[in-house]
Amino acid sequence: MTDEALIRVRNLRKLFPVRKGFLSSIFSRESLHIHAVDNVSFDIKQDEVLGLVGESGCGKTTLGRLLIRLIEPTSGDVFFRDINIMELSRSEMQSMRPKMQIIFQDPYESLNPRMTVLDLVGEPLEINALVGSESEKEESVAEILEHVRMTPPGEFMFRYPHELSGGQRQRVAVARALVIHPDFVVADEPVSMLDTSTRGEILNLMIELRGLTRSYLFITHELAVARHFCDRIAIMYLGRIMEMARSDDIIRRPIHPYTKALIEATPVPDPSARKEKVSIKGEVLSPINPPRRCRFYTRCLAAKDICSKLEPELVDIGGGHMVACHLYP
Ligand code: SF4
Repeated sequence: MTDEALIRVRNLRKLFPVRKGFLSSIFSRESLHIHAVDNVSFDIKQDEVLGLVGESGCGKTTLGRLLIRLIEPTSGDVFFRDINIMELSRSEMQSMRPKMQIIFQDPYESLNPRMTVLDLVGEPLEINALVGSESEKEESVAEILEHVRMTPPGEFMFRYPHELSGGQRQRVAVARALVIHPDFVVADEPVSMLDTSTRGEILNLMIELRGLTRSYLFITHELAVARHFCDRIAIMYLGRIMEMARSDDIIRRPIHPYTKALIEATPVPDPSARKEKVSIKGEVLSPINPPRRCRFYTRCLAAKDICSKLEPELVDIGGGHMVACHLYP
C-alpha cells in the first residue's frame, strides 16, 4: 500500500426529504430531511481496503453508492485520483465507470434471472467495448470464472442464477465486478446474506483476488469481518464517521465510546473465551434534522455537558488514528 490517495471524499452530504403530514405542514415551515451522510471526509489510499462499519441504517450503503456516483450527493466532492467525479458530465462519468465497480449485498436480487452466467459476467466487457467478439468474451469470462473458483468454467457459463447456490451467485457477482479489472470496488456487505461456511469461502476468495483489484471500500456491520479483510476501519454512526484507524489499532485500542461498545458487543469466535454480550443502551437520535451535538450523546455513558451543545470533529490524535469525541485529544 502507498500513502497516495486513490479516493478523496470531502464534506460529502446526502439528505433525503421527508414527506410531512397535512397538519405538521401547516404548523411548521421547517423542511425535514433524513441526514443519511452528513459532512463526511476521508481518503482511501492506493491499494488499500478501507472497512466501513456500523449498525444498519447508519448511512453505510448510501455513502458507498455516493463514492461511485450511483446516487447524487446533496453537496460535497469525491475525487478519483485528481478528478472530481461530481463535476463530470453523464458521458464523462460513463467512461469512468469501468474504473469503479460495486458488489451488491444480495446475490439473489443483483443478478438478472433471465441472463446466463456468461452474459452476466460478460456484460461489463461488452458495455465497455473491451471485447470484440463472442469468443473473446467467452475467453475472458472463462478466465475470471477460474479466478472465482467456478471450475470448469464450461460447466457454469450457461447456467441461470436459479441454478446456482447462494455462494455461487455471489462468486458470479464478484466475477462481474472484477472482470474488467477496476481500480476501485465498493463491496456492500458482500457476505451478509450467506451462511457461515460460505461467507468464509467468499471472504477468503476476495483476499486471494486482491491481485486483480487492490483498492476497496468494504461495507459491513460486523467488526470481525472487517478485521479479517481490511487495512483500516472507519466506524460510522448516524451519518458521521466516529473513528478511523488501522484495523488492529481500532480493535486493540478503541478510543470512541461507540467503538468500544461495538467491540464489547462483538461475538468472540473462541467459545472458551467467555465474554458477556453487551447491548448498546439508550435512545438512538433521530436522523431527521439531527441537532448539532454529538450524535452518540443519547447512548453515551461518558457524555459531558459540551457533548449536548457541540458536534465533535474528526481529528487525528496521533499516528493517523482519527476520533470524533470531545474526550479527545
Ligand atoms: Fe460521548 Fe461526548 Fe464523546 Fe459523544 S462527544 S462520544 S457524547 S463523550
